[in-house]
Amino acid sequence: MQILKLGGSVITDKNTPLTANNENIKRLSKEIASVGPQQLIMIHGGGSFGHPIAKRHEISEGYKRPDQWQGFSRTHQAMVHLNKIIVDALLDEGVPAFSLSPSSFIVTEARRINELDTAKIRRLLGAGLVPVLYGDAVLDTQQGFAILSGDQLVMRLAMTLSADRIVFGSDVDGVYTADPKLVKEARLIPRLSLKELDGMVRIGEALNTDVTGGMLGKVKEAAEAVAAGVEVILVNAGQAGRVEAALRGEKVMGTVLTR
Ligand code: ADP
Repeated sequence: MQILKLGGSVITDKNTPLTANNENIKRLSKEIASVGPQQLIMIHGGGSFGHPIAKRHEISEGYKRPDQWQGFSRTHQAMVHLNKIIVDALLDEGVPAFSLSPSSFIVTEARRINELDTAKIRRLLGAGLVPVLYGDAVLDTQQGFAILSGDQLVMRLAMTLSADRIVFGSDVDGVYTADPKLVKEARLIPRLSLKELDGMVRIGEALNTDVTGGMLGKVKEAAEAVAAGVEVILVNAGQAGRVEAALRGEKVMGTVLTR
């Protein structure tokens, strides 16, 4: 069983609110279809759909004011909207996709999933369907509500369902020595061990860079799955053929996380 995470950076136009990148969505749907019948779970990020609304209403910080409930619901609605675009595109290409709303069966505790009932997901996989989930606004037992990142969801599902491989598709070629969008000399790291990863995360934290989101947040979440033996590969989903090759287990440009 494989889990494919498609970053908001690839499936939306991050600079224009509520705008899907239909070209990328269609191409990626074709790539997934061409791999053929497979045990696959898909998870997508929010990009310009969920994030701006969640940020404006401070959903990730939790409940402070009654007017935030409106923003909580609107964040979820924006994600339902994006999810519909993606699931429809997959169906159009013949992928037996099925939408699952994380907030309808997941509650977090201090922003982390504690219990995860995967019975329905197992059933869908058993029927040959491809469950499609996403980062969502969810209820939280400690702070009222929270943002459940797609990256945390990927890690928990991989652990609970013993996934063989996780493919992270983002808008950069993999993990670099520094943010390639900011540092010109940044180099791609083809293989990254857990020990090296730990060092990078600590450097990131010391530099006070974005450790909750961005690439470091992703690899930090993935570390637990890697330790448990799940193969994790990060590729550029904005480049044609990379996601397809990764799903086929072929050698492809990107970063492989190793124990
Ligand atoms: P997504 O929306 O695809 O989930 P994010 O925007 O959360 O992705 O994270 C990917 C981004 O992280 C990249 O576009 C890149 O600008 C940034 N980034 C920061 N540090 C690194 C790094 N060391 N290597 C690769 N990307 C990095």
